[in-house]
Amino acid sequence: MTALAESLLKQVDAGLAFFYPETCQICRMERATAGDGYVCSHCRSQVHFIKPPFCERCGLPYSGDFTTPFECTNCREMELHFNSARSAVVAHNVVREAIHRYKYQRALWFEPFLADLLLSAVLPTLREQSWDFIVPVPLHPLKHREREFNQAERLATYLGAATGVPLNLKLLRRIRPTATQTRLTRQQRAANMRAAFAVCPRARLDGERIILVDDVFTTGATTSACAQVLKAAGAGEVCVWTVARGL
Ligand SMILES: [Zn+2]
Ligand SMILES: [Zn+2]
Repeated sequence: MTALAESLLKQVDAGLAFFYPETCQICRMERATAGDGYVCSHCRSQVHFIKPPFCERCGLPYSGDFTTPFECTNCREMELHFNSARSAVVAHNVVREAIHRYKYQRALWFEPFLADLLLSAVLPTLREQSWDFIVPVPLHPLKHREREFNQAERLATYLGAATGVPLNLKLLRRIRPTATQTRLTRQQRAANMRAAFAVCPRARLDGERIILVDDVFTTGATTSACAQVLKAAGAGEVCVWTVARGL
């Protein structure tokens, strides 16, 4: 981890250690520090890291032996505009709870835990590749004001600090607020997302390779809509990384 990433973690650590007892905020039983994101080693052991085999395109893991090439149901039903999508872990149990409370209840103490999951999966993969920018999935300004932070932007900051790839926060904008996606079908999500994003009109792209960061990947509707506008503006490649994957 770079010095900047370490200093980000230390700031969170110093800020929180003053207020909270060193107890895991998931099970509320075991010991966990601010640096652990208040998630103990027992709760961490329940996190399921996504390992191959998975769909080359959207990263959906599958099990069992396939004698014929694997045809991913997610990719078959969606028109996906990114080159590839990968997630660090499965969005269930501990991870789902931490992300939900981080995002909707402002439980910022989980951030080092979530950033750590992302970095431990991304760093071995990205080390071999070269990228021009990291772009977080933006929130609409109204939602940003209401939530006070953009979780994708914060996680992208850790990734930028750890890899040295510059963050670009001006390139992509959310121009239309979108309703909460959880109760929508796949098709409704895609339609909902289609006109939500735009690239800054002053931006000039020429084949850049972009890492697009979000907290959770569900069907890919959100990240695909972002990739679509980035590519239309001239991006050469868009690879999505998220902390968690909904299955
Ligand atoms: Zn615990
Ligand atoms: Zn797929």
